[in-house]
Amino acid sequence: MIVMKFGGSSVANAERIRHVASIIKTYADKRPAVVLSAMGDTTDYLLEAADLALTGKVDISNVEKLHRDTAKDLGVAIDSVNELLDELKFLLTGISMLKELTKRTRDYLVSFGERLSVRMMAAYLNANGVPAKFYDAWDVGFVSDSNFMSAELLDEVWKTIPAHLSDYAKGKDKNIPIITGFIAKDKNGYITTLGRGGSDLSATMIGAAMNADEVQTWKDVEGILTADPRTVKNARTVAEVTYDEAAELAYFGAQVLHPRSMNPCRVNGTPVRVKNSYNIDFPGSVIVAKHSGERPPVTAITSKKNNIVIDLVSTRMIGLPGFLAHVFNQFLKWEISIDVIATSEVSVSLTINTDKPLDGLKADLERYASVDIKRGKSIVTIICDVARSSEILQSAFKVLSEEKVNVQMISQGASKVNISFIVDDAEANTVVKALHKAYFGEN
Ligand code: ASP
Repeated sequence: MIVMKFGGSSVANAERIRHVASIIKTYADKRPAVVLSAMGDTTDYLLEAADLALTGKVDISNVEKLHRDTAKDLGVAIDSVNELLDELKFLLTGISMLKELTKRTRDYLVSFGERLSVRMMAAYLNANGVPAKFYDAWDVGFVSDSNFMSAELLDEVWKTIPAHLSDYAKGKDKNIPIITGFIAKDKNGYITTLGRGGSDLSATMIGAAMNADEVQTWKDVEGILTADPRTVKNARTVAEVTYDEAAELAYFGAQVLHPRSMNPCRVNGTPVRVKNSYNIDFPGSVIVAKHSGERPPVTAITSKKNNIVIDLVSTRMIGLPGFLAHVFNQFLKWEISIDVIATSEVSVSLTINTDKPLDGLKADLERYASVDIKRGKSIVTIICDVARSSEILQSAFKVLSEEKVNVQMISQGASKVNISFIVDDAEANTVVKALHKAYFGEN
């Protein structure tokens, strides 16, 4: 068995749905379980409709039009889609009357996106001679906690998912399951969501729980690339990365998979393959526990713009324990998470990425240190074998000095797979290009 996951842009319209259906058909003999996101921007439309309902207006015309037009174009009559659209309107009317929207209701509301898309795909596959059956995630065992909008799946899913899907895996049930990503139900039967981009997690959870041969996440790019192709024209596909490397890549700006989604597959080493829906035969990139051959010194280079660097220098606490504890407590208090950090005995530099006002945090930090806040900074990350850091850093610094870029902070990640530099936003693309050339050559 394999799991195939298609994101919102892959199922954005009738043409894309036809294409995805043809890909599913190609893999039919591998017993695929298919996980889908909501069509196109439906999740965003639903969230906008919720905000509008709070002002007393009910309008889901864009969601309605997209789904009705698509059904028409695909030539499928779907009562189940119409029923859901009616239910959605009732819900929004309720919100508009109460002018109140709890996180629980918000999850119920956004769940319609994924529920609509699986109905559409299953109807189209069936109409074209591919037996398929749609499932809302809770009907294949997705149970979560009640942390609405970013729920965690409960451990029992390792048993409940196979309880529902093993007949299909064994070939007893011939209908390809088309399953909603992103959503689950809590123990009280309320719909929850797994956080934005949560469909990847749904797919990896099914793959790991079913011990699938692989989980395929289908994108519109040639797998995981050595750099962002918008910056580096000759970026190429990385054939193999580890879960750790993929998590760092995602965290530091590459559009791969949500770092959290790797977790279920780490448990039993289920491989996750990133495939290009425009190039079906291309193997793409596979994410595995360990490199199969020799690990390359550098896997990829990413950059993430718009960070804020905070430099703290303590005069008062020289040599005293607890300086960092005080500092971190202030970030906890203001609920701002820290990304990259570099410290010495009495000073610490760290980066954050937030739109929140920083006056309160600054005032609190100034009780312990002098505080300098600098905006417009980029984190350039080299995903690499940190055991070879001297060699990697040697070429990095050569490149940086040639480019006359002054590194403002440097940090070697504890996960042993990344080295990060902080530079000005204006310099980031030049740095990424130059590093890419140094590590991967011209072509
Ligand atoms: N539809 C959800 C979102 O847009 C979940 C997903 O696509 O993974 O965040």
